[in-house]
Amino acid sequence: LMFGKARTCNIVTVPEHEPSECNIVILGANGSGKSALTVKFLTKRFISEYDPNLEDTYSSEEVVDQQPVLVKVMDTADQDGPVNCERYLGWANAFIIVYSIDNRTSFEACQQYLEAVTLYSKGLQPEGPVILLGNKVDMERYRQVSKADGAALALRFGCLFFEVSACLDFLSVQQIFHEAVREVRRE
Ligand code: GDP
Ligand code: MG
Repeated sequence: LMFGKARTCNIVTVPEHEPSECNIVILGANGSGKSALTVKFLTKRFISEYDPNLEDTYSSEEVVDQQPVLVKVMDTADQDGPVNCERYLGWANAFIIVYSIDNRTSFEACQQYLEAVTLYSKGLQPEGPVILLGNKVDMERYRQVSKADGAALALRFGCLFFEVSACLDFLSVQQIFHEAVREVRRE
C-alpha cells in the first residue's frame, strides 16, 4: 500500500473585491471593421452589416490569465479622423487602432490616431498601451498594406502590432482584447 505524503496546506486569504476594470477604445477609419471586431469579441459572431454611425460602449466579464476583469469596449464612429478625442482619451486604459489591410487610406488614417493618442499620453503615468491592428486578413488577395508596413509604423510609435480578421476565428480576435488587458496590468 502506498500513502501519499502528508501535504502542508498554506491558507491563503483572497481579498474579496470587485473584478478590476479595463477600458478599451477602438479607433480607426470608417469601414476598417471596428464594429465587426467589437461584436465578434462580445458575441463570437461576425455581423457583416453594422450601422456605421453607431458609437457605443459595451461591457464583458472576462477571465484573462485566471484573473477576472470587467472589459469595457468603446466602439467609436469618427467621420473625419481624430476629432473630439476628449470623450475617450481620459477614459481609456488601452487603445486599439484599426485599419483594413485592403485599404491604404485606412492605414494612413492610423497615423493620425497614433499621433493624437501618443501626444495625449506623453508624460502620463501609466501611458496606456496602444495596439495597431490590421484587420481583414481574409482579404489577402486585395492586400494594399504589407505586414512590414504595419510593423514599421508600430515600431515608430512604440506600440504592439497584430493582424486579424473579424470574420475568421473568434480566438484570435479575443486574443487581441486580452493582450490589451495584459498590457494594462503590466503597467
Ligand atoms: P467600422 O466602420 O470600422 O465600424 O467598420 P464595420 O465593422 O462596420 O465594417 C465595415 C465593413 O467591413 C462591413 O461591410 C463589414 O462586413 C466588413 N468587415 C469588417 N471586418 C471584416 C473582415 O475581417 N473581413 C472582411 N472581409 N470584411 C470585414
Ligand atoms: Mg462602426
